[in-house]
Amino acid sequence: MEGSTQPRCDVDDYEIRPSPDKGLGAFAVKEIPSGSLILAESPTIILMQEPLSIRDADIEAALLTLSPFQRDSFHALSAPPTQYESELQRKFLGNSMSPSAIPGSTCLCLRIARFNHSCRPNSEMAWNPFTRTFDLYAIRTIERGEEILWNYVPGSNYMPKSYRQFVQFLNWRFVCNCEFCEGMTAEWRIRNDRTRERMYLLQKSLQGFELSALGLDAIAARGIDVESTWKPGELEAILENLWQPPTELPDELKDMDVREQFHAYNELAAITEAGCIIGKELAMAGICVVNAATRQSGLVENDDEVKLVDEHMAMAMRTIYASRPRSGPDVQAFEGKREDWETLREAIVLVLDYESGIRNTTDHEDMQDENL
Ligand SMILES: [Zn+2]
Repeated sequence: MEGSTQPRCDVDDYEIRPSPDKGLGAFAVKEIPSGSLILAESPTIILMQEPLSIRDADIEAALLTLSPFQRDSFHALSAPPTQYESELQRKFLGNSMSPSAIPGSTCLCLRIARFNHSCRPNSEMAWNPFTRTFDLYAIRTIERGEEILWNYVPGSNYMPKSYRQFVQFLNWRFVCNCEFCEGMTAEWRIRNDRTRERMYLLQKSLQGFELSALGLDAIAARGIDVESTWKPGELEAILENLWQPPTELPDELKDMDVREQFHAYNELAAITEAGCIIGKELAMAGICVVNAATRQSGLVENDDEVKLVDEHMAMAMRTIYASRPRSGPDVQAFEGKREDWETLREAIVLVLDYESGIRNTTDHEDMQDENL
């Protein structure tokens, strides 16, 4: 059950090569099984500074500590045309991450910087405090030739497409063309957007999760000059259909008692899975069902409900097992049965605690939290 059972990729199992419309990207050169550790990378540069305080001199000083090869690799990175003044800042901040595991830091990993974004990722990033590395796991089987992608935007599972696109465009100046954004049929995308809005409302009611309103005010707050940043018509197209997070909850989600909350968590887990959203959010949805079921004794007595919770627990275990270090508590040994709910819940929460969350330096929360 320890790390030895976990498939692990060699650097030869994927290659960095051009990706259509995205510069370079990482592609599997052979099938990568779900749960594989694709790579574990120590940050090449760690600056103990918040992104907005980082100046050219800070980056230049850090570059002096690198080998010539690393410096060349850094200079070969793309510099997304964000609001930062210099090319050096755009290059560094457009490719770096702020792990909450290292508070107040901004980190750059030269290899991970080559992996592109998708709203339907096949891999997930986790911080491993034991090895002090960013670990990238396959959260489903990745076919030979498929691009390896992870989700840059935390919380984006609760955002309909227009909101995701606005956040991505504001931060990195790209328009995502993943399966969720441009693939499938138009009807499917409309249904998927409705699912995400419902997920948002459920999360808002159950966990107090909030997204900020976006639009021209958000752009102005960042000091971005619209005229020089967007091509004519480009911004209008994004603003025209921009979804705004509802501020009011529907009546049925207000002031819920523990039974109603249990049902709401079940709905959240079911629609997360039905919406093809895998990874941490799916695991958390499953764990929340078990949390709700065990909050009060006798809350779940009905056999069908017990079975449902068993299923959600088993799903959470499979999911978490695929995307986290396997050196932690042995969650695989449990079968997801009622007598194990409590033990499993504790074990999985511990696994999740290994990772303290990763936030991209330019994520949308900066706009409200850091007074840009
Ligand atoms: Zn997308």
